[in-house]
Amino acid sequence: MQSLWNDIDAAHCDSPLALRAYASRLLGGDPTLVLHGGGNTSLKREAKSGCVLYVKGTVSDLAQATEQTFTPLRLDSVLRVLEQPPLDNAGMMRALEDGLLHRPALKPSIETLMHAGLPFALVEHTHADSVLAALNVDNIQAVHAEVYGVRAPLVPYQHSGHALARACLDTFRARGMANTIGLILAFHGVVAFGNDARTAYENMIELVTFAEEFLKARNAWRLPEAAPVAAAPDTQTLDALHTEINAIAGTALVRHVIGDAPTIAYAQRPDLAQISQQGPATPQHAVYTKRVPLIGRDVAGYAARYREYLDTHLGKTHSSLIDAAPRIALDPAFGLCAFGTTEREARIAAQMYQHDIAIITRASSHGRYRSAPAAAIALAEFEYGGYTARAA
Ligand SMILES: [Zn+2]
Repeated sequence: MQSLWNDIDAAHCDSPLALRAYASRLLGGDPTLVLHGGGNTSLKREAKSGCVLYVKGTVSDLAQATEQTFTPLRLDSVLRVLEQPPLDNAGMMRALEDGLLHRPALKPSIETLMHAGLPFALVEHTHADSVLAALNVDNIQAVHAEVYGVRAPLVPYQHSGHALARACLDTFRARGMANTIGLILAFHGVVAFGNDARTAYENMIELVTFAEEFLKARNAWRLPEAAPVAAAPDTQTLDALHTEINAIAGTALVRHVIGDAPTIAYAQRPDLAQISQQGPATPQHAVYTKRVPLIGRDVAGYAARYREYLDTHLGKTHSSLIDAAPRIALDPAFGLCAFGTTEREARIAAQMYQHDIAIITRASSHGRYRSAPAAAIALAEFEYGGYTARAA
């Protein structure tokens, strides 16, 4: 992966926070690094009153980052929250309010504690496709040791928030060395850091490049460029499927069909029923794609299994807030059909699943694809899908 750092553009940034925003836009502008609100970045700066942590606001997008995207918090106050006994995300957000430098402010990123704990001026977190394609496999430990070792120690999967921040800090303290430039978050993404904006950004690029080189060396990089020609989308079939899905969703959804070569090739794989039912490459995708796609036409069967999964991991009260209708349908004839409550949501779901297809295809070329545990995906679907407020 090429660094897009440009000294002339960087020189136009008239403050460290403006430079932080510039490097964030470089990351956010590449959909193979983050998609639609995914990922987060931060800057720590000394001020008269003590060190300030500027961290991305939770509803903002790195691709459009400006100085206003970042929420300023007193670092010592945030670090006290990190030292508290385990907190759920609602409790963590309440505790973080004490550290806000001014109000109103954007709600700080769910990963604020992770940014605070790592002892570097700049921290970047992405869900880089290549890193997930290399490491989302059942032998993650062995692949990690081969690709990264101490350059980016492996953090076992933890839910975003207090638990993940603690795990990152513990891993960094136990395994970080002088040449450590980041951390790998198992079945989630990657963190890079540094003490100046260019170094932190280019450390992320370097970590992604390591994964790309591994995939190329394993002949796991190339995606199918041509698939057996699929029949043109059969509108009647899609209409019937759409009607059934609307009934389960309890609302009229919008659909978006993708039938390019990698998608058709994926939908026609003989092992589709196995590789597509593990879960998304990173938990955030489940907000738009659900944990697993529908394969075939049995919408009622899908909904029954999905309801059982939500009930098991969230309990019936929270489960009842989420509909059990699929958002992605895969079919060897039409490829992928994504559903959303708006045209925009349907397109985002389609785009996220296209990235999952690339990741799962590459991971399956060198190992057995795995995702975060089902319980973790259910929690992500609930929390990042905005259901916490409705449940309160
Ligand atoms: Zn993340």
